[in-house]
Amino acid sequence: MNPPPELTWVEVDLAAIRNNVRELMRIAGRPLMAVVKANGYGHGAVAVAQAALQAGASWVGVARCSEGLELRRAGITAPILVLGATPSAEAEAAISSQLSLALYDRGLGEAYARQAAALGRRVSVHIKVDTGMGRLGILPQETASFGKWALEVPELFIEGVFTHFARADESDPGPTLAQIARFREALEALQASGVQPRWTHAANSAAMLRIPEARFDLCRAGIALYGLSPSREVPLPSSFRPALAWKACLASSKDLPAGWGVSYGGEYVTAGIETIGAIPVGYADGWRRSAPNQILMDGQRLEVIGRVCMDYCLVRLPAGGAIGDEVVLIGRQGDERILAEDVALRWGTINYEVVTGIAARVPRVYLGADSLGS
Ligand SMILES: *Cc1c(COP(=O)(O)O)cnc(C)c1O
Repeated sequence: MNPPPELTWVEVDLAAIRNNVRELMRIAGRPLMAVVKANGYGHGAVAVAQAALQAGASWVGVARCSEGLELRRAGITAPILVLGATPSAEAEAAISSQLSLALYDRGLGEAYARQAAALGRRVSVHIKVDTGMGRLGILPQETASFGKWALEVPELFIEGVFTHFARADESDPGPTLAQIARFREALEALQASGVQPRWTHAANSAAMLRIPEARFDLCRAGIALYGLSPSREVPLPSSFRPALAWKACLASSKDLPAGWGVSYGGEYVTAGIETIGAIPVGYADGWRRSAPNQILMDGQRLEVIGRVCMDYCLVRLPAGGAIGDEVVLIGRQGDERILAEDVALRWGTINYEVVTGIAARVPRVYLGADSLGS
C-alpha cells in the first residue's frame, strides 16, 4: 500500500476481522451476527460485513434501516437485522430490501404490516424484549399478549426474539444472569402463546465470550469483531487482533524561535529554538480537543502540544522529522503501540467511542482483502 494515500487515513486489516470472526465462532460454538452499525464501528460497514460473511458469519446487524440499505446496495444478500428503531416512514424501503426489523410496539408493527401488505409481502420481525436495559423492548410480563397479537397479523413473520444486556462487560455476571432468567420467562410465555421463532438471541461480545448461558441460537458480536476488548473487566483473549490503525503524514516541519506561541490560545510557548511538526489530524477528524494526546513518530511516543485544532495538531519533533514522515495515532510503529483502549483511557471514555468517532472524511484503506488463505 504505497504511496500513502492521503494526509491522514485509517487502515483496516480485513484478515484480522476474518480471524476474529473465526475465533468468536470457535469460542461460542454458535452462528454469528456481525454487528456493523455506525459504519462498522468506524471501520467501514460494507468491507467488514463482507469479510465477516466470508469468514462464516451468517447474519449482519445494524442499528438503523439506512445502514441496512447501504449493505444491500453493496450487494450483500445475507440476512440483515435492524437492531434499533425503524420509523414507519422507513418501513417501505426496509421491507422492499428484505431487512428484518426489531419489533417492540404494536403501532409500529401495524405500520410495518400495512406497508408489507401494500407491497404484497410479509415483513420479518424479531420481537425485542426489555429484560433490564430500559431502552427498546416489551417488558417480560407483556410478552404473551404481544406474541398473541403479533401472531394474528398475517403480514408479520416472527423470525426471532431477542434481548440486550446492560452489564455484560462488568466483572460480576450477576446482573446478566438475572436478565437471562427474565428472558427465559419471556420465551416460555411466547411459546405458550404459540410463537416459535427460528432465532433466539441475546449475547453481545462480552456476554458471548464469558457467559455460556447467554449464547442461545445466535451471538451478536460488535466490538470483539474488530479486535477491541469489551471492557477492562472483559479483555479479549490474545488470539484476537485489532483491525484498525490510524495514520497520518507530517504536513509541516519547521524550527520556531524561542518564545513563539504554538496553536490557538498560545497555551504552549517554545522555550528555545524548537522543531514543531503539524500533523493533519484535528477534532473534525475525531481526534479530541479537550484531552491529552500522544502519537508515534520514528518509533517514539510524542506528546501533542498546545490545543488540537479542527484540522491539525502539533508536536515537538525529534531531530530529523520531515514533511511526509509517517505518524501513528492508533496502531503499531516499531516496538511501540498505541491501542484504541489507550486513547480511550486518556480521553476518559471507551474504545467504542474512539473508533466510531473517526470522521467520515478520513479515508479507510483496506488490507488483506484477499479471501484465500487467512
Ligand atoms: C451494538 C449492539 C450489539 C453489539 O455489542 P458489542 O458490545 O459491540 O458486541 C449487540 N446487540 C445490540 C442490540 C446492539 O445494539
